Amino acid sequence: MPRRKKSEEPQQQEQEKKTKKKSTKDKYIDPNAIIDEYLEEVVNALGLAYLNLDKDEYKELIKEPFAAAVGEVKTKPKARTIINRLQANKDSLMEFLALKLLRIKNLDKMTNEQLEFVVYNIKNTVKELGPQLYEELSKRNRQDLIDFLRTTWNLYGINSPVECPRCKFNAIMPDLSCYICKYVISMKQLKEKIHVIDLLIDYSKSDPEGFKEIITAGYFYYSWNGISPPSKMPKNELLVFEIILNREEKEKLKAYYSAGNIPQNQ
Ligand SMILES: [Zn+2]
Repeated sequence: MPRRKKSEEPQQQEQEKKTKKKSTKDKYIDPNAIIDEYLEEVVNALGLAYLNLDKDEYKELIKEPFAAAVGEVKTKPKARTIINRLQANKDSLMEFLALKLLRIKNLDKMTNEQLEFVVYNIKNTVKELGPQLYEELSKRNRQDLIDFLRTTWNLYGINSPVECPRCKFNAIMPDLSCYICKYVISMKQLKEKIHVIDLLIDYSKSDPEGFKEIITAGYFYYSWNGISPPSKMPKNELLVFEIILNREEKEKLKAYYSAGNIPQNQ
């Protein structure tokens, strides 16, 4: 029967396909299968040995960057290759590891070396972790690391034009509280810090109209751009302080204005 003959053919083809598929199946190196073997060498090469973590903690610490450095390969890479790849972006790697360490260990359980590692490498994340780190460093009385954290804050933090009188970070927010140490300054302290009268008198020289507006309205805005009158509230700035003048200050400034120190009728 012709029918039978026909049905034999596809069966044969199917079998061929199956064997073909099997022989070309991709086998990538599983990074988790080789991390144990390379762990010590990688930890030493990256200068992480002083963190004194146990083996499992080290594995947890580096597993993601390690896997990325191994990549999708079918032959086992040499330790040197992996280390070179890790070191190619050392700064961002260290920042990542600092954050990872914070997930593995509680801040208050860290050794001094571990805490130092976090502070030295934290960079951008100082925005979120600055307050916690400051608290822990204060408890341990590590003024040196607080100084380092302050520098990091200046580079990567939410830099305020007003310095906190307690922790000395540029971290006073427009609600007058310090983002880092939670200290709250008074309006009086803020005005002392920025030398409000001198500042306004200086300002009057460059913008007499704005100065007039400020003494009439009784308040102004203060930001990294300096003084702005009420009608020109800075729109694109994150930190804008509203500063309300008291009666004494207004009188001083009005006296200065009416004494003819400011060019009028412009
Ligand atoms: Zn503070």
